[in-house]
Amino acid sequence: MSDRIDNEALSILQSVFGYPAFRGHQADIIGHVARGGDALVLMPTGGGKSLCYQIPALLRDGVGVVVSPLIALMQDQVDALAELGVRAAFLNSTQDFDATLRTERAVRNGDLDLLYVAPERLMTPRCLELLESTKLALFAIDEAHCVSQWGHDFRPEYIRLSILHERFPHVPRIALTATADPQTRAEIAHRLQLDDARQFVSSFDRPNIRYQIVEKTNARKQVLDFIRDEHAGEAGVVYCLSRKKVEETAEFLKANGIDALPYHAGMDIADRTANQARFLREDAIVMVATIAFGMGIDKPDVRFVAHLDLPKSIEGYYQETGRGGRDGLPADAWMAYGLQDVVQQRRMIEESEADETFKRVQNAKLDAMLGLCETLSCRRVRLLDYFGQASGPCGNCDVCLNPPVAFDATVQVQKLLSAIYRVDQRFGAAHVIDVLRGADSDKVKQWRHDQLTTFGIGADTSEAEWRAILRQAIALGFVVVDHDAYNALKLTEEARPVLRGQQTVQLREYQKPAKAKGKRGGRAAPRVEAGLTDEEQMIFERLRNWRFETARKHNVPAYVIFHDATMREIAKTKPSSLDDLRHVSGVGEKKLETYGDEIVSLIAELV
Ligand code: ADP
Ligand code: ZN
Repeated sequence: MSDRIDNEALSILQSVFGYPAFRGHQADIIGHVARGGDALVLMPTGGGKSLCYQIPALLRDGVGVVVSPLIALMQDQVDALAELGVRAAFLNSTQDFDATLRTERAVRNGDLDLLYVAPERLMTPRCLELLESTKLALFAIDEAHCVSQWGHDFRPEYIRLSILHERFPHVPRIALTATADPQTRAEIAHRLQLDDARQFVSSFDRPNIRYQIVEKTNARKQVLDFIRDEHAGEAGVVYCLSRKKVEETAEFLKANGIDALPYHAGMDIADRTANQARFLREDAIVMVATIAFGMGIDKPDVRFVAHLDLPKSIEGYYQETGRGGRDGLPADAWMAYGLQDVVQQRRMIEESEADETFKRVQNAKLDAMLGLCETLSCRRVRLLDYFGQASGPCGNCDVCLNPPVAFDATVQVQKLLSAIYRVDQRFGAAHVIDVLRGADSDKVKQWRHDQLTTFGIGADTSEAEWRAILRQAIALGFVVVDHDAYNALKLTEEARPVLRGQQTVQLREYQKPAKAKGKRGGRAAPRVEAGLTDEEQMIFERLRNWRFETARKHNVPAYVIFHDATMREIAKTKPSSLDDLRHVSGVGEKKLETYGDEIVSLIAELV
């Protein structure tokens, strides 16, 4: 009996979705929910959460109800399922009355496998009655961390979802999230009354993502070089802190020949939605955005995520970078980071209206983020450790690939600290560095700082190097920036033992930002997949053109037709019959029927 469910689940995976095998915990989760159990699923972005409720919904009688806050994406999700031959529909505020009635009728008649609903819609008496009128396979609560009041995605309507359990006690519930920390997990279990649900916690590692954090010199120029050298013609996201910087960066990239579009909450909603649609539908758009962009964007072929400003926390950083490489192919998480980021983030916390407890939490989160930036060991080890997962050096981050040199910086840091002290802790970074380097600026003369014993004691070190040292001194907590006093640098208690020579300091050696070494500069052999030969690349390009045209005809995003990973496999295996094509991962029965002949004849024409 139990074997039957597992066999059927595998057979649906293969025939409907076209994938040969389950990943990670998928099989266990699907088996558990299909048998009527409740589940709480923690899986990183790209881990494959959707199948965990889609397949049980197909296995069980009745319609699977998916609660999601992402109404802008429901149409695409439903279209993607239709391409697979799954009967799905949605109910949300974007729909006209006729469409609503049609969907409601389909629900009543038992004609649907999956129904996507916005939480505020679900809670209406009309919707609850509708659900009572039909057989329900399950409730899936996607983005379940939205129930957490401490997170930045909090949605008050999510709190009320606990009534599902009260009104439909026999319908299994599965809550899913990519947010990993134990606090949020406990909060989800508690607020959704899922204390008895089985918990499935996956590894949070995303091995195909390469982490890289570089010294910020000129962020816009650096990101332009990065895109040109490593990701020309590919889709990516560039995150900036402010709306203004989003606009400026998008303009700058566009002026330099990159297909970039802006996205932030201050934009007109129509423009914003149009830009998001283009990003999803086209192959190679670079979205320049604030963190308002991205939740639930399940575009699988995002090849890079770049940060031009420091994120506030590792949770945020991990969620944002996790949007790259969902198809399992190599992707880059790239960030430019500098002194100004540290100063700015500290100031934002200090100047916020929040109470002291909240500020303390924020500062601790920022410290962990700075620790990741300044680390002298594997970035992935640090990241996973933050989520409570032990691991070894990954071989796929900048630190592993190109280990930074640590040096004993005690003397340098002492010079810096005493220079700050000698100018009475009343001056900012630029002036302190001028004093160290013995510059003859007006300000130095005006304040007679050329008379100080510290004047010129750091002349052998470049300004950029001093900035890097100061940045690390701030990150390590020896120095603070007083925002109430024109950003004056001040010493902390922690500086004392260093100044007295009782503590040594190891810092990262300053590395001049080198221009990338040619295309894919410095890239070791990709761990995930070997590259394509010239002929395969040519076939892949032709397939991409075919997909572009087909997607336009069907009015769906390109990846809904086939993922890049599927097309790469087609390019490699060059199937000469429908039977060959059937074995390619990502080709299910419905797609074979719809596109099989076209693909096979296209390949025949090319080889
Ligand atoms: P999540 O919601 O966890 O971020 P998705 O459900 O969108 O992830 O899945 C990420 C990608 O992985 C999707 O493109 C999906 O089709 C693919 N995928 C999921 N499960 C499998 C599997 N067992 N084999 C191959 N591909 C899979
Ligand atoms: Zn590493």
